[in-house]
Amino acid sequence: MSAIDDLPPLRDVIQRHDLAPKKSLGQNFLLDLNLTARIARTGGRLEGVTVVEVGPGPGGLTRALLAEGAGRVIAIEKDARALGALAEIAARYPGRLDVVEGDALEVDMGALAGDGPARVIANLPYNVATPLLLGWVAADRWPPWWDGLTLMFQREVAERIVARPGDGAYGRLAVMCGWRCEAKIAFDVNPQAFTPPPKVVSSVVRLEPRPQPLPCAVKALETVTQAAFGQRRKMLRQSLKSLGDPSALLDAAGIEPTRRAEEIPVEGFVALANAWVATRA
Ligand code: SAM
Repeated sequence: MSAIDDLPPLRDVIQRHDLAPKKSLGQNFLLDLNLTARIARTGGRLEGVTVVEVGPGPGGLTRALLAEGAGRVIAIEKDARALGALAEIAARYPGRLDVVEGDALEVDMGALAGDGPARVIANLPYNVATPLLLGWVAADRWPPWWDGLTLMFQREVAERIVARPGDGAYGRLAVMCGWRCEAKIAFDVNPQAFTPPPKVVSSVVRLEPRPQPLPCAVKALETVTQAAFGQRRKMLRQSLKSLGDPSALLDAAGIEPTRRAEEIPVEGFVALANAWVATRA
């Protein structure tokens, strides 16, 4: 039995259900329930909250979310081998764990979460972590259906999420996330905490939605950041050529044509995106 519930230790669960980790599914499991409890608590108070978890696997984080009081956990898992282990957790917490077998990239999580406070807390599979994050942050609907994201990434990706202008890691991901959210690295997790250990350090990142991000169309911001950071070391008067007359765009946005993408703050990209939309009207 473990410290947080009366379910068996995760090592036993993995063995009994034949859950040898698969690299193709980004399976690096967390077996330390103190660590999963810390991740769950980083997501804030969970009483009465619906938590969406991507990739529960053998259920270490799922158990922590339920033990921390989440009203309901919706766990989306692609690997059918994990369903037996998850059914045991569902039986321990009747009516509070719904397991959805499927690809999180294709599931409408907002519809599953329904009304009421909901948030995402997950040790993400690294191979789909960035597209999942962009799906949450660059959604058409804002404010979103979630009130917070607490997510494990590779440290290098975490740095790209929270980067500021002038940082080497500053790019499209930082602009898209910074536009709509406040993002912070909560803490790092050593490779040895995972089974099997990944090659690099991981970080838990916490994102909170801004209630009123600067008005801008998602697609336009994606387009201008793609053009600008596609040639990040070039001056914007050069890198924005694919969008039409760069001088007119930069002038309308109030940005010097000799500046480079890596120096421009989120507000500058929003101004550029809005100027680009205006030229196409
Ligand atoms: N939550 C568990 C933990 O912390 O020990 C497992 C985390 S492991 C890093 C990622 C999990 O995501 C695995 O269980 C894997 O099978 C699952 N997964 C991988 N790709 C997925 C996808 N596209 N949709 C849903 N789950 C996926």
